[in-house]
Amino acid sequence: MYGWKKNIRQVTPYVPGEQPREGNIIKLNTNENPYPPSGKVLEAIKGVDGEQMRKYPDPDALSLAKALAGYHGVSSSNVFVGVGSDDVIGMSFLTFFNGGEKVLFPDITYSFYDVWAGLFKVPYMTPELDGDLRICCSDYINVKNGGIIFPNPNAPTGLDMDMRDMEEIIKSNPSSVVIVDEAYVDFGGVSMIPLTKKYDNLLITRTYSKSRSMAGMRIGYAIGDKELIDTLKAVKNSYNSYTLSSVAIKAAIASLEDDEYFKKCVKKITDTRERSKTELKKLGFSFPDSKANFIFAKHEKVPAGEIFQRLKENKILVRYFDREKINGHLRITVGTDEEMDSLFSCLGRIL
Ligand SMILES: *Cc1c(COP(=O)(O)O)cnc(C)c1O
Repeated sequence: MYGWKKNIRQVTPYVPGEQPREGNIIKLNTNENPYPPSGKVLEAIKGVDGEQMRKYPDPDALSLAKALAGYHGVSSSNVFVGVGSDDVIGMSFLTFFNGGEKVLFPDITYSFYDVWAGLFKVPYMTPELDGDLRICCSDYINVKNGGIIFPNPNAPTGLDMDMRDMEEIIKSNPSSVVIVDEAYVDFGGVSMIPLTKKYDNLLITRTYSKSRSMAGMRIGYAIGDKELIDTLKAVKNSYNSYTLSSVAIKAAIASLEDDEYFKKCVKKITDTRERSKTELKKLGFSFPDSKANFIFAKHEKVPAGEIFQRLKENKILVRYFDREKINGHLRITVGTDEEMDSLFSCLGRIL
């Protein structure tokens, strides 16, 4: 190493699923919602005027924090908002995982966690999922740690955890912040938000990217005890005060105001997911019983990497992780019924 190169931060970045630049592709690789957001969201965006754009946004996005608080039955002082939940979770690693003890998260989980740990130099340990790809509650109890994070339902397995097990983890780690990443909870998991009133070490993170069809707007939030939220705000305001744009704030509030549409979209996706399970089984796949908007499927005969390639040649994108333990699986996002039918007929031909 020489010159400035010896001073640089060494990182291994997160690799997101491909965003193809050509059209005509059935995109089932990044867990986006196949349906557009509510028309009210698009109207709200059109209503943004030059005066609003000219000024900085409210750094606390209080109008949105209040709307989210009302939606979830908490106080606005319990809500922190950010540019997607990646922003919120990254900020949480920086804020809460500072003690020097190892942070715990599963070995098979959202692959951004170890990237943030690397970036912020947080030591960590990754307890293994069990043979059924489930998180073992006992791995997070009576183990010295500097914090805990896991998604519920977990990604990329789609499996949710028993509520009593989760509460046991939170209860038995009073001196650690426990983060439950609820990116997919709207598709069938049970939210732990009510428990944030009982446990001051519990932080829930949520995103608008999946169930609310707004990945392109970049909106996420966290809910927890006021002290956790105040600490997050202090760290955010030491780095970048204006995270959410005034446009994103308006759009986010509008989405909450059309709950009927939101629930209808979620229901369509979960119905399509259940139907997809039947079809995939017929094609020779097995998979954990997903509660999310994707299915983590393994074919009994044909290698996942090969299926991935052949689907890609046929302009269908799914996610393949070329990583030990999960390289036999494909993570297939639940799209529209038409998209899934194209997938099944293509798989029928390939296999
Ligand atoms: C998609 C996802 C996120 C991040 O979502 P944002 O688009 O940044 O809001 C966080 N956690 C998990 C488990 C995810 O799958």
